[in-house]
Amino acid sequence: MSKAVTLALVATSLFAQAPLPPSIPWNGKSRALIAKPDDKWITVAENTGFRATPNYVQTVAYLRQLALAAPEVRMVSLGRSPEGRDIWMVIASRDRLFTPETLHRSARPTLMVQAGIHAGEIDGKDAGLMLLREVTFGRWRTLLDRANLLFVPIFNVDGHERASAYSRINQRGPDVSGWRTNARNLNLNRDYAKLDAAETRAMVAALDQWKPDLYIDTHVTDGSDYQYDITFGWNDSSGYSPQSARWIRQTLTPQINSALRSQGHIPGPLIPDDLAQGLTIANLPPRFSNGYGDVRHIPSILVESHSLKPYEQRVLGTLVLLQAALQTLGEEGLSLKRAEMNDTESRVNPVPLAWRVPKASAEAPEVMEMQLIESHTEQSSISGTNKVEYLGKPVTVRRAVYRQSEVAASVRRAKAYWIPAAWSDIAERLRIHGIAMERISDPREVDVDMYRLNDPKFDAEPFEGHTRVVTRPVIEHRKERFPAGSFRVATDQPLGDLVTVLLEPASEDSFLQWGFFHTIFQRTEYVENYVVEAMAAQMLASDPALKAEFEKKLANDEAFRASAEQRLDFFYSRTPYADPRWRLYPIARE
Ligand SMILES: [Zn+2]
Repeated sequence: MSKAVTLALVATSLFAQAPLPPSIPWNGKSRALIAKPDDKWITVAENTGFRATPNYVQTVAYLRQLALAAPEVRMVSLGRSPEGRDIWMVIASRDRLFTPETLHRSARPTLMVQAGIHAGEIDGKDAGLMLLREVTFGRWRTLLDRANLLFVPIFNVDGHERASAYSRINQRGPDVSGWRTNARNLNLNRDYAKLDAAETRAMVAALDQWKPDLYIDTHVTDGSDYQYDITFGWNDSSGYSPQSARWIRQTLTPQINSALRSQGHIPGPLIPDDLAQGLTIANLPPRFSNGYGDVRHIPSILVESHSLKPYEQRVLGTLVLLQAALQTLGEEGLSLKRAEMNDTESRVNPVPLAWRVPKASAEAPEVMEMQLIESHTEQSSISGTNKVEYLGKPVTVRRAVYRQSEVAASVRRAKAYWIPAAWSDIAERLRIHGIAMERISDPREVDVDMYRLNDPKFDAEPFEGHTRVVTRPVIEHRKERFPAGSFRVATDQPLGDLVTVLLEPASEDSFLQWGFFHTIFQRTEYVENYVVEAMAAQMLASDPALKAEFEKKLANDEAFRASAEQRLDFFYSRTPYADPRWRLYPIARE
């Protein structure tokens, strides 16, 4: 027996239960929502005391039966995963409006819920199955009188089937769960802007076609221990969809919080990993579902149930939240639709590209009471640093709250962007987002601004399959000739903000920063030393100003003096032989 096999056998018994912080007993009123054992529509999770969650085949079978029995329910496939599984979406519509066109014309607002973007965080699937049962055959049938429901039970279908007892080390149940990333190890919740994954492409196309009025993405946390069993957040101060953000803050949030509290749950704000420095409420960029919803004006919230709470408590919390959201949407959908329309029609200028917490002002910072769990830290001989131990005892503390409410970078809104024909793959990704564009059939000369991308800094390691790059863009005004087949993308369209965020080099989710333009950083022609030496001698002899500049640089710049390459390039880069398009970002601003 090899050493590796022995190790694996030891591991099985040792790792059967990860050493999590103490569990806190819970007996919330929402347990009354669990189906009785003789209920025909009991789910796998309920039927196993929330030990198990159904696999892909079981989930689809349950939904097929429901769709057969309930005329207001239908299933559609949004597309296929890399391993060939259908990504199913369930439509629940009182009037049986089962196409995007008919659903849009419905007076009722539409809630879209997705589960399993990180397939190990599957609470939303089991909550959604219960919700569907209740709105068709159960206690919440009237909800469909006022709102439509779209439900994607498993978004990351391939990751969901990579199931194991060891997928989620920091999480209390279910016994077996799926994996975070898809079959190509891509994190779908980093892919909404760049669109590498088939799954994300399918989802983004669905958002574009079905146009939900509210989009909820369900997760489970990692990170610190606290009392909240469910937290949620949205981009509250980004400036792309301010009216929808206000609706979420003022109309939806109080309803969700009061529903959760009345059912025995403890709702809280979306909390980043570490609260030691206070709570920072960030605007997430469009690589994330809710950041993406914000920039394309779909009101979106991200839900995180708390990984250290038992599975039953987490699923029920998610269910209560979804029910409250569907009900509030039904009651207040008109005001949300108005907010969405205003956000969609506004053409923000300048367009924000990044945010920061405002510099400390004279005023005292905002403070929030936070329901945490007592902990202490001590020195660890294993890590050599402090380790934290949670003690299972509730404690309320006051913590400063910091909001990313200040624009850190922005750009004047361009009239349009030009994409040369050679970069049609970029245009194709814009098309999947639903962005409208014009393709020219004859060459056209246009007055544009273009960026020279100086000082590129490449990441040392790939991230999500890309080597990211940041640059120092400098604008150049040019008359540029775009060949036939080039694309003109106007920003005067509902997705104009998204166009800007994807194409501006200073935007962190731009295609440029994701590494789609690396070839422009290569120098592809070069000069032999014996040629440039001779040419430099001629240039020095004929241009006294140049000679003075060269001598000054030699005297003052040590690195330059020490580098033969830099010294020769001083001359080569001033000749017409040097590549005038080196580091020129090919996408232009009109
Ligand atoms: Zn997640």
